[in-house]
Amino acid sequence: MEQLFSPWRSQYISSFATEEKGSDCVFCSALASGDDEASLIVCRGCEAFVLMNRFPYNSGHLMVLPKRHTADFLSLTSAEHQEMMSLLGAAQRALQELSKPQAFNLGMNLGRVAGAGIDAHLHWHIVPRWNGDTNFLPILADVKVVSEDMAEQWKRLRELFRQLATV
Ligand SMILES: [Zn+2]
Repeated sequence: MEQLFSPWRSQYISSFATEEKGSDCVFCSALASGDDEASLIVCRGCEAFVLMNRFPYNSGHLMVLPKRHTADFLSLTSAEHQEMMSLLGAAQRALQELSKPQAFNLGMNLGRVAGAGIDAHLHWHIVPRWNGDTNFLPILADVKVVSEDMAEQWKRLRELFRQLATV
């Protein structure tokens, strides 16, 4: 968990946060943009939404977030919790269809000290895993950019969520 969710990525995430400094919150901006393909939103529910991570830990890395801007896990309503759990389930199914991972990491970093790159708007991570992938993940993390692959992946995930999400 620790290896996957924080240390070697912190520098990368910082550059992402700095780059987006103009807007108050990258997640709220994505939600407000109205262009789901450009913002990489694959599913919008009533209380929560699903976003592809622009700088993935691994191919297919998704995030599930409340629509409401909050850093406080304890402030989440039961409706928000329920919808996020439902979307995490749909995310696992969609990724299973998309790329047949062997396992998943599911987690949330609450606060910057815990490894959250963007700590003002809490988010679940769901990361598909394959045997041996940690050997090359740190290398990939330095070179990943938004690619045509990612646009293609967005299209497929969007369609899978249309079929699978029940919110
Ligand atoms: Zn926000």
